Amino acid sequence: MSAVLRLLSRILNPVYPTVCLSCGGLATAHHPLLLCRDCLDAIASPEHACPRCGAGMRRPPDLAVACPRCYESHINFHRAVSVGDYDGPLGTLVRALKFGRRAHLSAPLAAELAAVVAARMEPAEIDLVVPVPLHWMRRFGRGYNQSALLARKLARALDLPYASCLRRIRRTTQQMRLSAPQRRTNLLNAFALKKSADVKARHVLLVDDVMTTGGTLMECARMLRRGGASRVSVAVIAR
Ligand SMILES: [Zn+2]
Ligand SMILES: [Zn+2]
Repeated sequence: MSAVLRLLSRILNPVYPTVCLSCGGLATAHHPLLLCRDCLDAIASPEHACPRCGAGMRRPPDLAVACPRCYESHINFHRAVSVGDYDGPLGTLVRALKFGRRAHLSAPLAAELAAVVAARMEPAEIDLVVPVPLHWMRRFGRGYNQSALLARKLARALDLPYASCLRRIRRTTQQMRLSAPQRRTNLLNAFALKKSADVKARHVLLVDDVMTTGGTLMECARMLRRGGASRVSVAVIAR
């Protein structure tokens, strides 16, 4: 599509441009994810995934053997699911939601996540949906916490209670920019359970936009478990 056409479509239709957010092609009409058919197909969740950490696998997982990622990272949550891979159109959507002020993308992304949670977990066994918190300074700059938008909509779609139980007590450098040892110290004591939070004996579903090494989610899970949560599962858009 030419630059002029692209500009025209943005001016004429600023909320739902007809341009695919990922590749710049023609977006599928009336699809809230603002992607073309090819990019929509590319975000389909992996056919086979590790039942524990949710990592995509080429073959059906062998339940007797820990997946390499679970083995390496000593994950402390019960299990994790994701919509799909961060590399590709899904990553573009997450970045648009996070840095591009496209908060409206949280609705269709949460709908995709709700479908994955319904298919791969037992939503009836989840007691509470909790977002990974953002430091107030970052939320102030962005105007919203994308994980809270996603978690709230996910909870509504699955008819589950939502509570923002955690807070970020220390501002941390973005995990993606750090080495593995730096990541660990970066997160130490970065989160705390709110005084009002009641997670005792509850199965908590922790929601974030992205999982990289899982460090942030594991640190949040540790705080929830310390507060008495019986189980912590994880749902992310991309990994
Ligand atoms: Zn596209
Ligand atoms: Zn795994």
